[in-house]
Amino acid sequence: MTNDKKAGLRVKKAINQELMRNTNKTQILKCIKERQPVSKREIAEELGLSTTTIATFIKELQRERMIRSGGTGQSTGGRRSVLYQLNPDYSYALGIDLKVDRMIGVLLNFKGDIKGAKAVDLIEQDEWQVSRLLRDFIEELLAENKVTLQQVGGIWIGVPGVLNRERTIIEFAPNLGWRNVNLPAMLAFEQPIYLENEANAGALGEVVFGAAQQVSHLVYVSVGVGIGCGLIINHKLFPGFLQQAGEFGHMTVEPLGERCRCGNQGCWEVYASNAAALRLYAEKTKRHQVTFPEFLRQIGQGEQPALEVLQSLLRYLGLGIANLINGLNPEMVVVGGELTAVKELVYPTLLREIKARALAMSFAGVRLEFSQLGEQAVALGMGSIVLDQMLNTVN
Ligand SMILES: [Zn+2]
Repeated sequence: MTNDKKAGLRVKKAINQELMRNTNKTQILKCIKERQPVSKREIAEELGLSTTTIATFIKELQRERMIRSGGTGQSTGGRRSVLYQLNPDYSYALGIDLKVDRMIGVLLNFKGDIKGAKAVDLIEQDEWQVSRLLRDFIEELLAENKVTLQQVGGIWIGVPGVLNRERTIIEFAPNLGWRNVNLPAMLAFEQPIYLENEANAGALGEVVFGAAQQVSHLVYVSVGVGIGCGLIINHKLFPGFLQQAGEFGHMTVEPLGERCRCGNQGCWEVYASNAAALRLYAEKTKRHQVTFPEFLRQIGQGEQPALEVLQSLLRYLGLGIANLINGLNPEMVVVGGELTAVKELVYPTLLREIKARALAMSFAGVRLEFSQLGEQAVALGMGSIVLDQMLNTVN
């Protein structure tokens, strides 16, 4: 073997050892996150590593302030053992949901608890105005919780649109009227900022914090101004070849139907979204200025035209969800959006419509839920990505 080859092998070995070291450290951190508070012995058993190895990493992680000891537990020999947990104040994660008409933000500590939250209505749609408002919003959220920007490990923003591969540019957001908007650059923070489609973010939020914990195959249907779907397949977000998967809002449900903002006609979201409800309601009542919360109030009061519009909406919503169930055979479907405010009224009709069209086997195996995270689902999903990123990039 030449000296060059030997040197090459040595480098390879060093790189492998470093990789192994980082993998062990990440595994230990993840194990602490899942089982906190947890003892060294429990971590060793869970990961199949020696207690000596665990002890070395625990010392290192404590020195770096990522974890801390908190309390003692009963160990097998009857001795008390020290328990470890993530240090909540090591770093913070910021998750934002930028909606067409509202901004929602959550600040998570390193343990994944909500440290602060904020939401404001948004009237502007001009991208420069919106980015300025969003920057102020983020600074206010941090200041209200006495966290500095330097303490934030990352910022992810859920947006209602199609993104580029690097998740830095909103290529097309029809309901905002945006094309090729580089939002991270416009915000001009020092921290790296990433974007995710809001429906994907909502799906992640439900898996980490909400109704779909432990669910392996999830369809999250975000019903808002439009309709977007986030797909979790085998515990992983399914992005598609070009990060465009889940745009079921634009599947055709009426071949000769109304024109959609995407250019096609008869798209699902033209018949089953909040915007669809308001359009149908305006056609029926000639009242054109009604907002979606007002429409929901009319439903609550049992107003006849509003109830009729709801029935039409649910027929199309159920039809679309049945198609998704037939095609994807999910374990759970979670419906998110303002409609969840009247879920008691919605559930029986929606379930009936789905059952009428879904294949028996797939229908028997699926659970239909409404988001319990309310309007924080997307922001929480975004925050959870930041925390995951932090755990995966330890060295
Ligand atoms: Zn469309």
